[in-house]
Amino acid sequence: MPFLEFRQITKRFPGVLALDGVSLTVERGTCHALIGENGAGKSTLGKILAGVYTADSGQIFIGNHPVAPTTPLAARELGIAMVHQELAFCPNLSVAENLCLGDLPRRRGFIDRSALRARARALLAAVGADIDPDLPIGTLSTGREQLVQIAAAVGTGAQIIVMDEPTSSLSAAETTDLFRLVRELKARGLTLIYVSHRLEELFALCDQITVLRDGRHIATEAIASTTPARVVTQMIGRELRAHTPAHLTRELGPVRLSATALTSPGHFTNIPLSVRAGEIVGLAGIVGAGRSEVVQALFGLDPAATGEVRVNDRPLALGSIDQALAAGLGLVPEDRKRQGLVLGLNCRENTALAALPLLTRFGFVRRAAEATLTARYATRLRVKTPSMEAITAGLSGGNQQKIALAKWLARDCDVLLIDEPTRGVDVGAKAEIYQLLDELACEGKALLVVSSELPELIGLCRRILVMRQGALAGELPHAAFSEAALMQLMAGLPAAA
Ligand code: ADP
Ligand code: MG
Repeated sequence: MPFLEFRQITKRFPGVLALDGVSLTVERGTCHALIGENGAGKSTLGKILAGVYTADSGQIFIGNHPVAPTTPLAARELGIAMVHQELAFCPNLSVAENLCLGDLPRRRGFIDRSALRARARALLAAVGADIDPDLPIGTLSTGREQLVQIAAAVGTGAQIIVMDEPTSSLSAAETTDLFRLVRELKARGLTLIYVSHRLEELFALCDQITVLRDGRHIATEAIASTTPARVVTQMIGRELRAHTPAHLTRELGPVRLSATALTSPGHFTNIPLSVRAGEIVGLAGIVGAGRSEVVQALFGLDPAATGEVRVNDRPLALGSIDQALAAGLGLVPEDRKRQGLVLGLNCRENTALAALPLLTRFGFVRRAAEATLTARYATRLRVKTPSMEAITAGLSGGNQQKIALAKWLARDCDVLLIDEPTRGVDVGAKAEIYQLLDELACEGKALLVVSSELPELIGLCRRILVMRQGALAGELPHAAFSEAALMQLMAGLPAAA
């Protein structure tokens, strides 16, 4: 018998049909995966269950009773809690205060600090979280903050917990801990809805899987009777074919970017590199090897960097973004939320940001030119947004990344430095971004791509440079690409014979 049932749930936001008559059932005591590309409607479905949003139409049943939570508090009283993708607490309050916010223990009109701490400790212990209850929430890593959210959910007696992309910013160790906790909660009879776009973890953890696409329910199946390939096809509505990038067969042009003895004290030493027109060069290495620091230095972000850098055969003075921009460099940074985009601006403004000098005449932005230019790149990148006037913060990760790329395409730079091009991006958008990078190389741009995903570098690049502890550990030509060879260089092991 289904424990939880969604029947014909529809939800519309201005300009978007986020959920279109979605129906599915969830068994008690199972972990139910909810998967779909960015923007498929997963978070919206979770938030409707958790009382954050109200459905326009449709019904939810728990144990055959219709329920309609209209606030998170009402949902909590029904035994439903949600662990959110984004920070859900007051960052400057302590862990204990956040955990007990709804019901602060008091003595003679004052908050009873020791009772507060004791209760928080008990809540944290119940989920095996070793966290100091006195720390301000804002000082915790996202992983630990999520643990506090889970502690709060379990502590309020939740029977159904929605976890929205819980591992998207967790370390490997934190992920292992989370998986253990999820299994334990399931063993205690809780029902979990686990939202993710990481297939491996869904197949390791969940019992059933529901695929959403563009707000529609596509399938609900037992994990045991489906396969990752089948789920991917259901997610994107077409088969994903791995194809060889076209740029690999083109002739390379002149050297666009070169560096010798690139050094930044404490970060990296003596790095040589060159990228030619039409070439995609990868930069591999473990976290901390200095890859991001190198591209940031090339872009003028590191005042301490030294070395000889040439762009289009002209010397580039380091330490100045203005000089880097003028020379024809662009940087799509790793952390697009903090560095790449101004999330409060709309899509048109963000896209035009880097190209503004080219669009400005006598101090005024040429609005018509701006609108045409930005719309052209948004179309080319297939950005899914209700309009270019929509605020960028409301877009999914994949679409934000496309806007971050569009920003540099609009500026038409010769050399693109791209740090983690597909971090937080789902499979469908990933394929589109790869396609786009291939097209850019075919047009003669020079691309230097930092990535932690080895298959990504192997599928994309003509050459891969490997960094280790701030130095260049080696270089692999296309014919020598393999994950094993890359990992050996990354780890500082002698290459296999
Ligand atoms: P997912 O979690 O699967 O990535 P979401 O449920 O967040 O997808 O979003 C589904 C669609 O609804 C997207 O097109 C998104 O832009 C839109 N959307 C989600 N929340 C809001 C909101 N608060 N206001 C406007 N549009 C929204
Ligand atoms: Mg989401």
